[in-house]
Amino acid sequence: MTLPSDTLEQLLDTVSRFVREQLVPMEHQVADDDAIPDTIVEAMREMGLFGLSIPEAYGGLGLTMEEEVLVAFELGQTSPAFRSLVGTNNGIGSQGIIIDGTEEQKQRYLPRMASGEIIGSFALTEAEAGSDAGSLRTSARREGDEYVLNGTKRFITNAPRAGLFTVFARTDPQQPGARGVSAFLVDADTPGITLGPPDKKMGQKGAHTCDVIFDECRVPASALLGGKEGQGFRTAMKVLDRGRLHISAVCVGVAERLIRDSLRYAMERKQFGQPLAEFQLIQAMLADSRTEAYAARCMVMETARRKDAGLDVSTDAACSKMFASEMVGRVADRAVQIHGGAGYIADYGIERFYRDVRLFRIYEGTTQIQQLVIARNMIREVG
Ligand SMILES: Cc1cc2nc3c(=O)[nH]c(=O)nc-3n(C[C@H](O)[C@H](O)[C@H](O)COP(=O)(O)OP(=O)(O)OC[C@H]3O[C@@H](n4cnc5c(N)ncnc54)[C@H](O)[C@@H]3O)c2cc1C
Repeated sequence: MTLPSDTLEQLLDTVSRFVREQLVPMEHQVADDDAIPDTIVEAMREMGLFGLSIPEAYGGLGLTMEEEVLVAFELGQTSPAFRSLVGTNNGIGSQGIIIDGTEEQKQRYLPRMASGEIIGSFALTEAEAGSDAGSLRTSARREGDEYVLNGTKRFITNAPRAGLFTVFARTDPQQPGARGVSAFLVDADTPGITLGPPDKKMGQKGAHTCDVIFDECRVPASALLGGKEGQGFRTAMKVLDRGRLHISAVCVGVAERLIRDSLRYAMERKQFGQPLAEFQLIQAMLADSRTEAYAARCMVMETARRKDAGLDVSTDAACSKMFASEMVGRVADRAVQIHGGAGYIADYGIERFYRDVRLFRIYEGTTQIQQLVIARNMIREVG
């Protein structure tokens, strides 16, 4: 449902102030401690940030895609680790239930996800199944009124905090590809689940991933998402459409933050008797970054509006994810360059963003996978 314009403005203003006044000052500490303080998590809960995209009927804010990307532009103005904490509940952790879940599954999980009481994680990737997710090997064997899960998922965001896993597993061993895959809603305290140690990552300190191991993990048949076998991969792809737009918006937000920091530094720092910002070679970098961030913002907004209008945005969401994630990589690189040596030194925070944004080109479909999606859709449209 579309919010009245003054309510939306109020929400964006509240998020923007929260980011500037509470999150930005914590960036160094969160990176050093590799942890987000509980007070911040609580404040996020109170603001409803865990339920942005969850329908109002289930306790969320029920934002449209356009409204959600506007909020994501604001959340992108600080370390991506903060966004990551609420990201799975708004995206890959909840959308499968919203799109394809039964009414009982929605009632059971969505209100608690919207309030942030439980964190939802999306468990698709395996050691042998990354970009080729349809080849996954985790199995779900039917035994009476239960399924028995066996397999190991890796790099699962928020797994160490998760209360619920959406797990993709093969229910039909005769079907080697995507059609044999089903999705299950598995409570994290179900016997047979163990977590690996937290992964040591390049960036986004404070956001955590780890392996999730299923060993003869028994779940009731009612845990099958939507109550239908063989639909899991299709659900995963639908979820990723929305997730890709959300990530694209975060990339725009981070780029805008880095451009602001770079401009401020270039205006304050003097060399050869004048501010760096007076040098045309520095101006070129600022202008290129501003132009690219603006282009990405327009793509994200346009695609979000088209999605809200009920159009198929699979191609455009992939275009947005590819362009925005590559764009923010270039913007972060220029930000380091504009800051010179300071850009390489941790105290200034720029090198941290440089490492943080690298992930955007990899998860929720690498750049190469976006290229394949775009080109395949192009060929299909003509065919
Ligand atoms: C921090 C982090 C968080 C993550 N969170 C989650 C999560 O919450 N849930 C989840 O399920 N997964 C998650 N992932 C996994 C992520 O989605 C995968 O890492 C990603 O999809 C790529 O898979 P891969 O790592 O196996 O790389 P691979 O698929 O092995 O790819 C390696 C390289 O080969 C390229 N490549 C692969 N296939 C092709 C092709 N057909 N044509 C051209 N190039 C190709 C890729 O683009 C890439 O450059 C996360 C990963 C990280 C690092």
